[in-house]
Amino acid sequence: MKSVILGLAICIGAGAALAQTPPANPIDGYLARAKAAAAFDFTGTLVRVCVAPQTAPGPDVAPPPPPARDTWYTDPAKVFDNLYFVGTKIHSSWALTTSEGIILIDTLYDYASEEAIAGGLKKLGLDPASVKYVIISHGHGDHVGGAKLMQDRFGSRIVMGGPDWEMIEQSVNRFPNGKPKRDIVASDGQKVTLGDTSVTLVATPGHTPGTLSMIFQVKDNGKPLTVAYNGGTAFNFPNDVLHFDMYIASQRKMAKAAADAGATILMTNHSEFDNAVSKIKMMAARKSDEASPFEIGAEAVARYFKVTDECAQLARYKLQQAAN
Ligand SMILES: [Zn+2]
Repeated sequence: MKSVILGLAICIGAGAALAQTPPANPIDGYLARAKAAAAFDFTGTLVRVCVAPQTAPGPDVAPPPPPARDTWYTDPAKVFDNLYFVGTKIHSSWALTTSEGIILIDTLYDYASEEAIAGGLKKLGLDPASVKYVIISHGHGDHVGGAKLMQDRFGSRIVMGGPDWEMIEQSVNRFPNGKPKRDIVASDGQKVTLGDTSVTLVATPGHTPGTLSMIFQVKDNGKPLTVAYNGGTAFNFPNDVLHFDMYIASQRKMAKAAADAGATILMTNHSEFDNAVSKIKMMAARKSDEASPFEIGAEAVARYFKVTDECAQLARYKLQQAAN
């Protein structure tokens, strides 16, 4: 009898304790959901946007002197039947080959573009003069640096979001070696078509006002696969609620576009976010019956956008708390 009473007392005690538990801190909730979504696939993205996010745009100053070549150089590589990596250890530039030439996505920093892009394409047996279109994910120096080179030397057409063309034109100090001349202004949903291949542009303002994300197809030993390419990730934009609302809406828009297209590959413009350079190295250990390390599946692609969404909500919540 005694033990029954004791048991009852413990039950009541536990119930009371539960009722008194304060509601979970929303910040912990955002972070827990982002961590769960990142898992081991997107730790770099998680760190950059949730754990140690940037909080403001960089100033309009001249770029620092180029870093030592050892710090950025990595070999170019064929990644799919029609997609080649011509980036650095840090930044990605992708060459999509078509029946009528090459569509290049992003152009790295100015200092790396000559060797990594023009040199890299040649090393892979491709002709840089066959780059007909260059799509710039956004107008920051680490992606637009080689656009002038491609435009001036190879006559490539440069495609960029309108607000990012303006951002470049308005910059006083960022382009000491000259700016690309305004060319094609991208629109939401526009298809950049070359021969048998199209890249669908998805306007995703947030990281910059003109950020472009993309959907396109690659072939892996003849098997068609769909890529969702996220054009801007970090929070180095004016940190206010309005900008975070725009960023969150864009990430949700791109998550839907990726899901609707059946994307099973997630690519970005920094290896930190999609582990491109590590995956390229892993391809050397790929068995003939194994999927490409880049083919992560639709569920993992969706988790990428969950990470950026939850982390942006976290940052937005903190801004609102600070304002109250
Ligand atoms: Zn950027």
